[in-house]
Amino acid sequence: MTKLEQIYEGKAKKVYRTDDPERFIVEYKDDATAFNGQKKGTILGKGAVNNRMTNLLMQMLEENGVPTHFVQELSDRETVVKKVTIVPLEVIIRNVSAGHFAQNYGVEEGIVFDEPTIEFSYKNDDLGDPLINSYHARALKLATREEIDTIVRLAFRVNDLLKEFFLTVGIRLVDFKLEFGRTSDGTIILADEISPDTCRLWDKDTNEKLDKDRFRRDLGQVEDAYQEVMRRLTGKTS
Ligand code: UDP
Repeated sequence: MTKLEQIYEGKAKKVYRTDDPERFIVEYKDDATAFNGQKKGTILGKGAVNNRMTNLLMQMLEENGVPTHFVQELSDRETVVKKVTIVPLEVIIRNVSAGHFAQNYGVEEGIVFDEPTIEFSYKNDDLGDPLINSYHARALKLATREEIDTIVRLAFRVNDLLKEFFLTVGIRLVDFKLEFGRTSDGTIILADEISPDTCRLWDKDTNEKLDKDRFRRDLGQVEDAYQEVMRRLTGKTS
């Protein structure tokens, strides 16, 4: 597979066209942003951790019946993925109160929910990714009713599988964000990444934060936290 020109550069990844019209190559960067791009920095080694962790988790999900965009890891930072058009919804699942949930509703972080919650944000940087409900998403033609039903079903299934998987390595999956895409035949599959950039991961025993909140909140040892998650998932660091 030949890597052709870059077609997109996001905050944490670049996407390249390839000689196969149904495949893209994604390249993960060490760049970190928070608060809709207002805070910028670098987390050394993040690109490699996020690439390898996403691929490991997507393969586990595939083995358990969740369709994903993963095709093949090319290098530490590069992966071949299926070409999709991203549904412009950030799908957020929460098992424990944290972040905006705690802020918006005036509760402390760490409240364990009886059942997971789901919410959508409209992926639109100019608007600051506002919260949106499924009726509004349909009114804006961001997705059909059937697509939203599929996304909700897959997102909860992903939560069940990830929660259990992380627990086996001593990590609580507090919350996370998913993005879905449509393949050329219209199938909805899981896309984007699953990493410490997009998940809140707390040590099961100490509740130590092992995710991007260390960068957002200037807690220090950001690189160490990313490496620690990877070490637990694979038994080695990158
Ligand atoms: N999240 C993300 N990208 C975003 C917004 C949120 O990956 O643009 C993730 C975030 O890392 C956390 C979860 O989604 O794991 C819930 O985030 P929240 O709504 O609490 O917002 P935050 O406090 O992260 O801005």
